[in-house]
Amino acid sequence: MNPLLSRRHFLKASTLATASLPFAAKSLFAAEPKRQIGFALCGLGSLSTHQIAPALQQTKYCKLAGIITGTPDKAKRWQAQYNIPDRSVYSYDTMAKLADNPDIDVVYVVTPNGLHARDTIAAAKAGKHVLCEKPMEVSPEKCQQMIDACKAAGKQLAIGYRLHFEPNNLECVRLAREKVFGELRYIEAGFGFAIGDPAQWRLKKELSGGGPMMDVGIYALQAMRYISGEEPVSVSAIANTLDTVKFRDIEESLVWQMNFPSGVLASGNTTYRFNGINRYTANAERGWFGLDSAYGYGGIHGRRSDGETIQLPGMDQFAAEMDDFAQCILENRPTRVPGEEGLRDMKIITAIYESARTGKVVALG
Ligand code: NDP
Repeated sequence: MNPLLSRRHFLKASTLATASLPFAAKSLFAAEPKRQIGFALCGLGSLSTHQIAPALQQTKYCKLAGIITGTPDKAKRWQAQYNIPDRSVYSYDTMAKLADNPDIDVVYVVTPNGLHARDTIAAAKAGKHVLCEKPMEVSPEKCQQMIDACKAAGKQLAIGYRLHFEPNNLECVRLAREKVFGELRYIEAGFGFAIGDPAQWRLKKELSGGGPMMDVGIYALQAMRYISGEEPVSVSAIANTLDTVKFRDIEESLVWQMNFPSGVLASGNTTYRFNGINRYTANAERGWFGLDSAYGYGGIHGRRSDGETIQLPGMDQFAAEMDDFAQCILENRPTRVPGEEGLRDMKIITAIYESARTGKVVALG
């Protein structure tokens, strides 16, 4: 079950997210951790450089302890910037040697989607816990292999679903669970942007697994699942591609519909064609609530049909996500964003693509 779906887990999640808001203030009162969990970043691209490495500096329970990269020049720059010793620098081919490095507890996989299984399995075999970016991989089979590898190694596997730690999204989950506007009826959600560079891996199916649905539509899909608190029973979808040269491998835009067991209906959209969609609205018996913008690193806020705003203070979602995973490891308790959560999304996305391809409604087991 999605940990965000149950009230007990939600309240726990909410408390943790709120607790992780003022990092500086919190450290004045809380005891210092006995030890910090060492993270090695695997793939030093845009997300690692601009979000994750800076976020690691804000965490309480984590430290940047190593890097895994295919680009020696980056290794030198990162070593100088973050004081990383030679013994904690790896390439994708030398990850087995991580087994000999006690400074590294977790490998954070931040490579292109279609390489997540390769890197997760290598890290697990070296005896490391894994935090893997979304989407988990490009097929349910690959996701299952990752889960199996981490289980066999006795290590935890978490997926980088940072919005499970974001207070405004958690507030919308509360409004839904507590039925503040009555029973939920309909959710509409969308996320898209105009993609640039035609040479990037996101446009190559082998590495991306698909188009905007895999990349950012997954956030709207997640919102539908954590707001409804249910798993969809059927999906239908239509893909649309106008620029067949740039998007010869993947969809350019996609709209989909899902039915949930209680009768809640959801419709979603995603695109690489234009900017501006970054929102969701949940419609219930006596009103509505939602976020616009909903999924960014900051600036998330929303409104309710009774005129109230939803605007809880922002926080570094990556720092919260990593601190939570570190605490799960230190306290030997399960993460709220396990590999099974990534596998569920991948099964639904696979059904969405099947429906877009066949024109038929696809039932989900
Ligand atoms: P980038 O292209 O910026 O970086 C990916 C890095 O992976 C590269 O810089 C490279 O690092 C490494 N790499 C290894 N093999 C390849 C290959 N064959 N082609 C390209 N790169 C390769 O991607 P992002 O950082 O934007 O995305 C990485 C992952 O993070 C994706 O899964 C994406 O979905 C996810 N993501 C999640 C976000 C979130 O909000 N949670 C936001 C953005 C991305 P090196 O040179 O060190 O080997």
